[in-house]
Parts: sequence; C-alpha cells; structure tokens
Amino acid sequence: LPRLRLNPTLMIRLTELRLPLEHSPEALTTAILEKLGIAATDLIDFTIFKRGYDARKRTAIRLVYTLEVQVANEAAVLSRCSHDPQVSLSPDTRYHFVTQAPKELPHRPLIIGFGPCGIMAGLVLAQMGFQPIILERGKKVRERTKDTWGLWRKSVLNPESNVQFGEGGAGTFSDGKLYSQIKDPKHYGRKVLTEFVKAGAPEEILYVSKPHIGTFRLVKMVENMRAQIEALGGEVRFQRQVTDLLIEQGQVRGVMLANGEQLRSDHVILALGHSARDTFKMLFERKVFMEAKPFSIGFRIEHPQTLIDQARFGQQAGHELLGAADYKLVHHANNGRSVYSFCMCPGGQVVAATSEENRVVTNGMSQYSRAERNANAGIVVGISPEDYPGTVLAGLDFQRHWESHAFELGEGSYRAPAQLVGDFLKGIPSKQLGQIEPSYQPGVQLTDLTTSLPAYAITAIREALPAFERQIKGFSRYDAVLTGVETRTSSPLRITRGEDLQSLNLQGLYPAGEGAGYAGGILSAGVDGVRVAEAVALSLNAVN
Ligand code: FAD
Repeated sequence: LPRLRLNPTLMIRLTELRLPLEHSPEALTTAILEKLGIAATDLIDFTIFKRGYDARKRTAIRLVYTLEVQVANEAAVLSRCSHDPQVSLSPDTRYHFVTQAPKELPHRPLIIGFGPCGIMAGLVLAQMGFQPIILERGKKVRERTKDTWGLWRKSVLNPESNVQFGEGGAGTFSDGKLYSQIKDPKHYGRKVLTEFVKAGAPEEILYVSKPHIGTFRLVKMVENMRAQIEALGGEVRFQRQVTDLLIEQGQVRGVMLANGEQLRSDHVILALGHSARDTFKMLFERKVFMEAKPFSIGFRIEHPQTLIDQARFGQQAGHELLGAADYKLVHHANNGRSVYSFCMCPGGQVVAATSEENRVVTNGMSQYSRAERNANAGIVVGISPEDYPGTVLAGLDFQRHWESHAFELGEGSYRAPAQLVGDFLKGIPSKQLGQIEPSYQPGVQLTDLTTSLPAYAITAIREALPAFERQIKGFSRYDAVLTGVETRTSSPLRITRGEDLQSLNLQGLYPAGEGAGYAGGILSAGVDGVRVAEAVALSLNAVN
C-alpha cells in the first residue's frame, strides 16, 4: 500500500472509490486513472486518507477509499471533474496554532484531569509555550494498572485509582476506539490522531475508517504524551485531587487540593470525566451553572466473536483487512424508549468499571489484536432528566442507586449480576451458564436481572433483543450473557459554557470533555481539549 504522509501538501481528494476486498495494489492505481481520466504518466503520487469497507452484501464486500492524489496538471483535472462530487481539492487538514505564549506569562494555566481532554489541552498549551500545570487525582498509569487489576483479580477497589481515575483517564483500559460523529470543520480530530501516532499509536489510525488502539498501546502512548508535555515546560502532578475552587467576584482565582495546597491561576480547565461525582457536588455547592442532561442505562451483552464475524462478513470472516467485526444496532420500543448498542468491543472483555465502593458498573475493553473469544457491547436505553427529577445532581443519585443494587444482586465482592438472554426474555432466574463464558472479572453471579433497572428499561430491552436477532442471527441466542449494570455511558449533567468556552457564571473556568457534557469518547474529548486550549491561550494573550 502507498506510504502514509502525515502532512499532505494540497492535492486532489477522491472519495468513494470502491474496489473488491481482494484487489491487487495496481487496481487502485488503475481506478484512479480511470476516475480522473488521466494517463499513468500524469499520476505523480497518491496516499490513502481513509479506508473503510461496505459489508452490506456479505458475498461482495467492497473496500471504500478516500485518496489524496497528486497529478501533473491539477487545475485541468479539477476543472474537467468539476461536475463529479467525488473529486475535489483536498482540504488542508494540518493543525495551525492560534497563537504563541508571550515571553512573560501572566500566570500558568491549570488543567484538572489527565484524561484525553486534559492531555490534549495540556499538550497544545505546552506546544504554544504556556507551560500548563495539570492536576490529576489518580496515579501514574503503571501504578494505576496495578490498582485496577486489584479490583479485577482480588476484588479490592481503590476509589482514587481505578478504571475511571488516573493517568490517561477513563479510556485507558478500553477498546481505544478512535472515531466519533462530531462535526469537525477545523480538523482537530486529525491533530489528535497525529499526536497519538507520534506518541506510539499505530499509523493506520490515520487512515482506517474505524481506528482503534487497544489497552496495552494506550498505556505507553499516554506516558509518551506526558513526557512531551514535560519536555515543553508543562507539569503533570499526580495524586492531586482538586477539592475546591478559589473564587473572587465571579472570577476563578485558583484551586484548593485535598492535601491543603492552593494553586493560583485565572485560567482553569475542568476536564473531570463523568465519574468525578464528589467534584460535581463541590461545583454545585459553589453554584457553578450546571444542567441535568440525558444519558443511557442498560447491560453488557456477550456473544462468541465468531458469531458476529459470520453474521457480518460471511465467508470473508477473519480477513485481515476487515479485522474482528463490530455492529451498531438501534430499536425504537413501543414504550417510546430507544435501545441501542453502545461501545461495542470486538474480541474483548467486559470490565468492572466502578470508582465507588460497594457499587457495580460494567464497561468493555480489548487489546489491539481483538483476539479474545467474546464480542461485547452495551445494550442501553436512553433516559432523560424526567426519569430522575430533583436537583441537577439527581442523575448521579439515580446512577448510584442502580449501581448499589447491582452490587447487592451480585452478592458482594464486586461480582456482577448476570443472566442468560433466554432466561431474561422468559423472566426466570439463570442457574447455569451455556457455552458462552462471561469475561467479567472478578466474576459474575447468575440471577434474575428483572429488578436491576427501572421497569421501562427492562421492557424496552426485552423487546429489542428479538428485534436485533433479525439483524444478527444468534444475537438473542439462549446462552448469550447479559451482565449489569451499564450506567456510566456519559455524564448525567452539563457544566454549561458560553461561546468563549467559559462557564456561564464563573469567569476563567473552562468546563471541557466528557464530564462537562461536551464529549462522548476518546477522540471527541481530545478534540474538545484542543478547542479549550486555544480559548485559554487566546485569553491569556489578551490579558498580557
Ligand atoms: P476522563 O477520561 O474521564 O478523564 C478525567 C480525569 O480527571 C480522570 O483521570 C480523573 O481521575 C481526573 N479527575 C476527576 N476529578 C478530579 C479532581 N477533582 N481532581 C483531579 N483530577 C480529577 N471511548 C472511546 O472513544 N472509545 C472506546 O473504546 C472507549 N472505551 C471505554 C472503555 C471503558 C472501560 C471506559 C471507562 C470508557 C471508555 N470510553 C471509550 C469512554 C472514554 O474513555 C471517555 O469518553 C474519555 O476518556 C473522556 O475523556 P475526558 O478526558 O473528558 O475524561
């Protein structure tokens, strides 16, 4: 395949070029020549910008390319193809810094949280010379990994160092899926992916349509990004939990840490993630403007990966360009609820994702190879603030209620309550597993999940599973395993910001990323980090 260029010069972009899965490398060149109507001597070079596939017809799976093509007479080709929506001038997707730090900084910006949002905000600010200080409540990623395994292997939870908290944020032990449906006119997503590649992610994340990294590589990547921030004069301080804000007349002046330390700054980025419930409470008490927002609740479902591969790819299952198959399913239930698959992890495992004692939360992860036996995904139901009336923090209480109940149903030691799909549909407790071995550690407790979520959610999921069977044969097979509960799909609140990306009622506070309700995944959190870094940099320069 053509070599990859990180910074393509302006070229012609060709989209929707479809070729059979098993095409030769020359077929790509031939297709370009045909499409543009040029001679081979006029084709200077080309690179793959994106490669996806169309598997709607399993017997005729096609690769779908977006290419950047350099030709001898670009203007003439563009003019000849002006009627063709698949041929255009390539946009400039390179990142351009909005400003650089002055020689004398008025003060260093603070960033709370070192997840994808805080990392990208920190990196971009450091690259512009603003020497950010990043405060992270959890530990460095290697120490954090040990604590996380402590829960998975020994049922010992460290509430400050776990799947949600610590270097790398919530996505560190994940599938590392790196796609998002956000609008991105400034190509910030490209900046995030490019930095990930520089830090050790596989280059292919820049051109495959559904890139993923997997857990092991994420760990190394996060360490490399920290090293880069530090080399540029930034600092990342671990085990520094922010417990309060210093406020003077509607302007943030700094933060207070759990160890009693105070740090002063008029620019504070709040990149907390969706599980910082104690910090949300502090913000509520400090009257920072927040609103309740919709999120989703449900279960994880597990099938053999081979079942999903067969259903999606037929005879081409296992093809190296296709990888382990994923799926995306939606069902609109008769009770008005939407049920959909969430954070699907091919060839992965279900993980214990609680950050609070005596509560059970599920999520999913995988390694880069996606070679584990089971496919898993959240099967979740959309809910909205009418389902949890009360203060803006009511969504947190709602999550806690169901997570505590799941702990009880799991009979302690952080085992998760689980049920076979067949038993769930009949409403009878499960007594014995079938052929599918659930992957959740530290283990599952077979039970009846009927009371594990509100009745409307159970009804909607019972209706959705047979509907999903019509799209993926075997989806509702008797021994597919449901594990509960999936409650942390996104933040239950939004820390609303204005057009200047500052809190609506606290100047200098920049709510960002998933916890603030402005992202829903690793890539979109990283993109939001770039966005707030720019806003902070411009504001700091204006102060100067
Ligand atoms: P976070 O990543 O949550 O980071 C917030 C950080 O802030 C944390 O490290 C936390 O310790 C720190 N913090 C919180 N409060 C304080 C405080 N008071 N003081 C100091 N520090 C504080 N998304 C995908 O796109 N693809 C996936 O494959 C994927 N898989 C996932 C698998 C799992 C198991 C989980 C849990 C999540 C997964 N996600 C995935 C979601 C993704 O991880 C999040 O959307 C993303 O991490 C949000 O980034 P963030 O920086 O906004 O917040």
